[in-house]
Amino acid sequence: MSGSSFARKDRFLKEKRHDVYRENQKHSEPAKCPVCGCVFANGRWQWLDTDKHAAEVVCPACRRTADNCPAGEIELKGSFLVSHKEEIINLVRNTENQEKNLHPLERIMTVTDNGSSAKVTTTGIHVARRIGEALSKAFKGNLVLRYGNGEQSITAHWER
Ligand SMILES: [Zn+2]
Repeated sequence: MSGSSFARKDRFLKEKRHDVYRENQKHSEPAKCPVCGCVFANGRWQWLDTDKHAAEVVCPACRRTADNCPAGEIELKGSFLVSHKEEIINLVRNTENQEKNLHPLERIMTVTDNGSSAKVTTTGIHVARRIGEALSKAFKGNLVLRYGNGEQSITAHWER
């Protein structure tokens, strides 16, 4: 897309929206997300068991998912993808699980199988990059990563 007024407006909207998902907002601690159960304590979201009475605060990852506003998008295509789709999607999911265990806000939102291509959306930029790099390492192919919004969003294309 060229730098049309539409593109500028779109970027502006995304920047405005990003503030909504900032991770360093002040919460009372501990706070627990009623959707996914992750806990905000010591200044960050983490997977914790807490017996303390926790305030209910929907975490940024669940808010992104509810708003359908991904931080990362990965487009997968190519004939190798089509013939190895299950294996490839398994790797995508396994990579997400590893990342999500360490960083609760880094998750897959959706995996869409479009037949000759597939699309994965994520709540964070790091998990999207990790997935792209895992695909590239395991299956080779061609990986292109593009950051946007001052590295607050990412689009990955992987083709083989
Ligand atoms: Zn949550």
